Amino acid sequence: MSPLDRLTELFRDFPGIGPRQARRFVYFLLAANPNYRRELAKLIETSAADIAQCESCFRYFPKDRQPSPFCRICKDPGRDQTSLMAVERDVDIESIERSGAFKGRYFVLGGTIPLASEEPEKFVRLRELRAAAERPELKEIVLGFSATTEGDHTRLLAEEWLKGVQEKGLRVTVLGRGLSTGSELEYADPETIKAAILGKK
Ligand SMILES: [Zn+2]
Repeated sequence: MSPLDRLTELFRDFPGIGPRQARRFVYFLLAANPNYRRELAKLIETSAADIAQCESCFRYFPKDRQPSPFCRICKDPGRDQTSLMAVERDVDIESIERSGAFKGRYFVLGGTIPLASEEPEKFVRLRELRAAAERPELKEIVLGFSATTEGDHTRLLAEEWLKGVQEKGLRVTVLGRGLSTGSELEYADPETIKAAILGKK
């Protein structure tokens, strides 16, 4: 396989990228300034060393000079420790933070669960979510998943996994209306997200 075909293949692994877009990326890079290519290659290589994954919420965060296993939000004593919002991906946290409507902490599930999957806990962090739900200070878990078929499916399975903790008094809520059907949290505007958080039930 030629290096160009291999590069195309690697871009195809990116979320939402088809073969034609992947090819366009390759041609874009070929035409790009050599300094741009060097910077990109270097950043890809060094980012793994500069980025850590939070041991509490599983989001990626830039390492500080003082290394910590926890991200800025998990370390912040000003955040509401009684409320945890589970989201699909890191990028959802950025959208919710922009809305300013949620003051609790987060949990990154790691994606959605495909409809016909036999062992959903192998696709996403359901086991870890249940463990997080057992923290004694926690009173509420908000399931902040996309208003898509897979998002709904993921919510139903997460609710099942949380049943035991729910029986012990934990409130499990979902985002309210406002997020239109088929919309992903990532693309929702701050006002819409705010309305969905205020309308959680
Ligand atoms: Zn964290």
